[in-house]
Order: sequence, then structure tokens, then C-alpha cells
Amino acid sequence: MTRGFAPEEYAAPQSVEEAVRLLVDHGPGAGVIAGGTDLLVRRPEELELLVDVSRLGLDGVEEEERGGLRVGACVTAAALEEDVRVVGRGCWGVLSEAAAALGTPTVRNRATLGGNLSNGSPAADLAVAVLAAEGKVETAGSGIRRFIPIEKLFRGPGQTCLHPDEIVVAVHLPPPQVGEAGAFLKLRRHQTAVDIATVSTAVVVRMEGGECRHARIALGAVAGTPMLATEAASFLTGKELTADVVRQAGEIAAREARPIDDIRASASYRRQMVAVLVRRALETAWGRCRA
Ligand SMILES: Cc1cc2nc3c(=O)[nH]c(=O)nc-3n(C[C@H](O)[C@H](O)[C@H](O)COP(=O)(O)OP(=O)(O)OC[C@H]3O[C@@H](n4cnc5c(N)ncnc54)[C@H](O)[C@@H]3O)c2cc1C
Repeated sequence: MTRGFAPEEYAAPQSVEEAVRLLVDHGPGAGVIAGGTDLLVRRPEELELLVDVSRLGLDGVEEEERGGLRVGACVTAAALEEDVRVVGRGCWGVLSEAAAALGTPTVRNRATLGGNLSNGSPAADLAVAVLAAEGKVETAGSGIRRFIPIEKLFRGPGQTCLHPDEIVVAVHLPPPQVGEAGAFLKLRRHQTAVDIATVSTAVVVRMEGGECRHARIALGAVAGTPMLATEAASFLTGKELTADVVRQAGEIAAREARPIDDIRASASYRRQMVAVLVRRALETAWGRCRA
């Protein structure tokens, strides 16, 4: 007979060090909980101890001395959606847009950035945005602190490179550049209903003298992990983003995607939607660069 999800213990550590120590001491039966919106739905049976990281002071957003942004792991989607330092500010803005598209207001009030990155979902909205913004994930583990480039975090569906006793403490985003803007777009099965993405994209472009100098195109729900469409992004460099160029970039991104058939959509529909979403997101971002 299976035990079902019934962790016997709950711990509310007061510091990151204490949280890590609890994870180390308890071993594989211990797991981190933040907002609980994912964990309490999945209800993994093997968990014996829940280590709550929501009271460790990881809920701050700070502009760093060198112009970057440090977003604490326990900042909620609701907070990101409305933060005036983030909304519409170069590459940071995609985080707010993605946060606004995550679940319902109730979910957004609990769902955290750290939880969204750590659950390893290929469809995780904030993960796709952090990927486009070229973020680094700061973690704390037993005797180590790591800064992991976001593209190295994901390993496969539900899998990351985090060690079992490692906690995400923050995400660092680079300084927004002059002439830079982004956009996040998400397609779900019923656009008004609660559902994770069928396809999503976050793009960041930087324009100089009418040409694209830099682009990053991230895709969600079309591979085993959130992914970058690197060929589509390179194609844009040095070009004016005309209707034809953004259409071609969308088509290249669609070829780079590695979607599967599942209950949300067929692989072929997803591929077609990558082309549409990437084109539209590039048009929006380009318009914002010029505004
Ligand atoms: C109705 C509903 C709708 C949803 N819609 C969306 C959606 O549209 N888009 C989307 O992306 N997601 C969606 N989700 C999934 C979920 O809300 C998000 O992924 C959320 O960001 C998870 O954050 P959390 O704080 O609730 O994580 P938790 O549930 O607390 O944890 C999730 C996982 O991450 C680990 N974890 C959490 N924090 C840390 C940390 N700091 N360090 C290390 N590990 C950590 C936990 O151990 C657990 O394995 C939805 C969920 C529900 C219930």
C-alpha cells in the first residue's frame, strides 16, 4: 500500500544556511516548498520533510550597483507583474509580462520565481522570460554558492542541474541597454481559462541605427526544456526588422523547435504556432524599441 502525500514534518528555517542544513541532514526525503502551487498539486509521495523557504528574506527586488537587477527567489508572480522597476524596462520587462500571463490572480499571489525555475517545466512562463533576458540563477548549497547561466539550469522535463540540497536564492538580470525591448506571448488551449502554455515565447531585441544589434528568442513548451532559438536570433543580427525578416525569423525558430504531440496540441500545430508567436513578439518588441 502506498503512503500517499503526507509529509510528517514541516520546517520553517530562519536563514538560508539553516534551510540548506536541514536538506543536507535529512537527505532525499526532504524537499523545498515556496508558494506550494506546484508541489501541492504534484504531491510527491517520497517527501517526508517540507523545508519552507518563504521566510528567508528572499522576496526582495533590488537594482544592483552595476545596473543589473537581483530578484529574490521568493518574489511572487503578482509582485513581478506590477513592479514599476521591471515593467517595460528593456530585457527586464519580459519578466513582468510573463508573470502577468501565469495562472490566475490567486495562483500569482503564491507562485514564486524560484519555484517556477526549479520545477523544471518546459512550459514555465518565468523560466522562458529569464532565458530571453539572459539571467543567471544564484543558488546556495552545502558550502557552495553558484551563479548558473539560465541555459545551463534545465536538463529535461522536470529536471534541473540543482543538487537535492541546493536552494535557488535569486535571479540576476543584466542591465537594460539603450534601444532594447522585449515581449512575451503565450498560447494556451482556451485563452481565458487556466492552463499552462501550449507554446510560449519571450524575445529581447536591441536596436541601433535602425538595425538589430542583438536578439534572444526563448521558446516554451516546444522541447524537453525551455529553449533558445539561436539560429533565428543570429539571423536577425545586422538586419532591419521588416515584415519579411521577422516572418523568416519565426520560420527558422519553428524549425529549431523540438515539440511533441500531447494532450494540449500536436507537434505540427506547435511548430506552426512558434512561427506565428515569434513573428508577433518580434514585431511588438521592435515597436517598443522605436517608441
Ligand atoms: C491552477 C494553476 C495554474 C498554473 N498556471 C501556470 C502557468 O500559467 N504558468 C506557469 O509557468 N506555471 C503555472 N502553474 C505552476 C506553478 O504555479 C508555477 O510553476 C509556480 O511558479 C511555482 O512556484 P511555487 O513557489 O508555487 O513553487 P512550489 O510549488 O513551492 O515548488 C515547486 C518546485 O520547486 C522547488 N522549489 C521551490 N522554490 C525553490 C527554491 N527557492 N529553491 C529550490 N527549489 C525550489 C520545490 O521543491 C518544488 O519541487 C500553475 C499552477 C496551478 C496550480
